[in-house]
Amino acid sequence: MLTRTQSLRDLNNKIQINDLYIAATPLDINNKVMVDISDIRDFTFCARYYDLKNKDQNEINIRNLYDKSLHRTFYAYLLALQEDRLDSTLEFLKYRWGKEWIKHKNTKDILITRSSVWRDSYEKLRKKGIDAIFKFNEIMLKEKQCPIIIGHKYQIEIIPNVILTGTYEYVRELTINKQKVIQVVKFITSTNRFNTNIARQFDLELIATAYAFKETFNVDYFQVVSIEIETKKITVNTYTEKEYNLLKETVKNVVLSIQNDIKCVSPDKHCFHCEYRNICINTL
Ligand code: SF4
Repeated sequence: MLTRTQSLRDLNNKIQINDLYIAATPLDINNKVMVDISDIRDFTFCARYYDLKNKDQNEINIRNLYDKSLHRTFYAYLLALQEDRLDSTLEFLKYRWGKEWIKHKNTKDILITRSSVWRDSYEKLRKKGIDAIFKFNEIMLKEKQCPIIIGHKYQIEIIPNVILTGTYEYVRELTINKQKVIQVVKFITSTNRFNTNIARQFDLELIATAYAFKETFNVDYFQVVSIEIETKKITVNTYTEKEYNLLKETVKNVVLSIQNDIKCVSPDKHCFHCEYRNICINTL
């Protein structure tokens, strides 16, 4: 068990930036089920959304692509900060965002094979990303901080025989009122369907991250923080056994539903914010 900041730093020697959103369906490994918290979140939003997202080979869901690219940009910045090789913070972010957003895409990809709506959204999000990195830079420069964990996958047996995976986006050490405090941070990067007041009150991903951190490192005191990039709002969240038990119950029920192919479709006003509504309406 790790109980000290130094131990967390030692662990970080082995840490690399990992892919987000790895699992598509619960996997059976040694008679244990492995499922990613992003899939649990998608399933609770709408089972059909979960299905369509996992079949999405052509990145129709451009908002997820944006979210992923922006997170990679942030992680690269934080890694450079950790390794003390960040000369010009804004230049680094601009370069990295450009690289993340246009990489693997040539002119043909963007201009010929895509619809004009897709191209418009692509360009709009490119600009939105520039705005986001400026804000991210301001937020990061405000506090002197020591990065401990960056974009690292976790896995934890959350209930018997079910292993939950997810990502520690960012764990840092700050000095607040002369006290060293560890913060487990989540970056909220876009105003999508998961960024509503209700979703924020019970943020499954953040609760799961807090639970995995608490259990894995046996740390009694740490803060769980969400940072909304667009508004620069920083919120310290408090989770207790009540939230952790609710999380376990949710994971258990979603896994059982997927395993037994019980998928309730829930068309509602949230469909207006769903990237798959055109495909979905055709198939309902
Ligand atoms: S349009 Fe509505 S019912 Fe269809 S996948 Fe999206 S949220 Fe679910």
